[in-house]
Amino acid sequence: MGFDFDLFVIGGGSAGVRCGRIAAAHGARVGVAEGRFWGGTCVNIGCVPKKILVQAAEYGAHAEDAVGFGWRGAAAGVHDWAALIAAKDREIARLNGTYRRLLEGVGATVFEAQARFLDPHRIAVGDTEISAERIVIATGGRPLRPDIPGAELGIVSDDAFYLDRRPERVVILGSGYIAVEFAGIFRGLGAEVDLVFRQPLPLRGFDRDLREAMAEALVAQGVRLFPESNIAAVEAMGMGRVAVLADGRRIAADCVFFASGRGANTEGLGLDHAGVATSASGAVMIGEQWRTNVAHIHAIGDVTDRLNLTPVATAEGHALADLLFAGRARAWNFAAVPTAVFSTPPLATVGLSEEDAAARGKTDIYLTRFTPMRHTISGRARKTLIKLVVEQASGRVLGAHMFGEDAPEIIQGIAIAVTAGATKAEFDQTIGIHPTAAEEFVTLRQITRTVGGA
Ligand code: NDP
Repeated sequence: MGFDFDLFVIGGGSAGVRCGRIAAAHGARVGVAEGRFWGGTCVNIGCVPKKILVQAAEYGAHAEDAVGFGWRGAAAGVHDWAALIAAKDREIARLNGTYRRLLEGVGATVFEAQARFLDPHRIAVGDTEISAERIVIATGGRPLRPDIPGAELGIVSDDAFYLDRRPERVVILGSGYIAVEFAGIFRGLGAEVDLVFRQPLPLRGFDRDLREAMAEALVAQGVRLFPESNIAAVEAMGMGRVAVLADGRRIAADCVFFASGRGANTEGLGLDHAGVATSASGAVMIGEQWRTNVAHIHAIGDVTDRLNLTPVATAEGHALADLLFAGRARAWNFAAVPTAVFSTPPLATVGLSEEDAAARGKTDIYLTRFTPMRHTISGRARKTLIKLVVEQASGRVLGAHMFGEDAPEIIQGIAIAVTAGATKAEFDQTIGIHPTAAEEFVTLRQITRTVGGA
């Protein structure tokens, strides 16, 4: 009553589009504002184009591997970066249109402009002013640059998707998802890659065996690792760059790439006009039902800086729309969220790491490492790692981890079992599919070690 919209969503990314679309389908009068590109980070400068680049990089190795299988003249040849970027851009343009049409198709009003709070119920969208009973902040995140001299000389992931040329030499800072994914992409396409990171091993927070396997695989791929290091400054050298490490070492490159974390995207939103509180790092703070401190304003997705993953964002958007306009929230299990790193090869994981499980109690570890069948023939030095983390008292599988080809495809299925609370005995009762790597998940017989507990 008296408002232009029942729900106004700020941000047309994974979270916002899903929330707006489902709310409109429930009959709500919905407006959605997007100031940059429909589909947000995932579609435009994240998951989707990243995976296209990962796949492009894999073809070079596939061509090399084909030789072992008798293919002659299959060697990869020269990669055309401009052709890859053009193909990627065509696909992204198609998806942009799809996202916009999804909203319009259910009767939502779309605004292609930045939105800014004027007060808790009123928003300026470009030149228009609207009012809404409920508002959802879904503005996502953005890459952060470290606070060091010459930081402006580096690139971030947003830029990496639009480079005119593939760099010959890249120094990447960080060892999180983005850093190791792009290390694989650039190395796979032929660049020299140096990875500078603060920890002894990449991927802090992941299971230690996965982290060790990742470090080994990066080295096997020819990526130079600089563990326990940091970049203190970036200098220009002609058209090139020099990364100056904290210990004084200097690395010359075409390009210094900061993959050193992301922050919530709230700049220019006018959150203070609405009285919405943010954390010290700038993320919008939420409580139950994705509510901010202002009861009719919610926040979902990366802007809340919790589990910054697309499927989590879309699930949050969907659940919130159901809750607000259908009186029920679809029940997703946010406790065991599977995730994958599209490194070369990829890794995927669901549930607890060995370290986290051991902190909770006595835990049996089942672990196997083997050369996948393909590479017994191709000769590529690449191992697959498969691991189950099992609570000893209950026999429940608390974590499943895989490093190796097809890991994300395989772990998605295993995640159903882990989410359902399956026990190791139930894994053992399952018949394998032969010959696959995945069958190892149901044929792990020997406890490798027991950890945790008194
Ligand atoms: P991450 O948080 O995963 O990694 C950040 C990296 O930067 C870490 O290695 C961190 O080191 C390092 N770092 C942070 N600050 C500094 C600093 N001041 N100086 C030097 N190093 C620093 O961030 P990403 O940007 O890679 O990704 C952001 C999020 O986006 C991910 O956490 C994930 O949620 C999501 N994402 C998911 C993907 C997927 O699902 N495949 C792909 C890409 C992103 P340290 O460990 O020492 O803190």
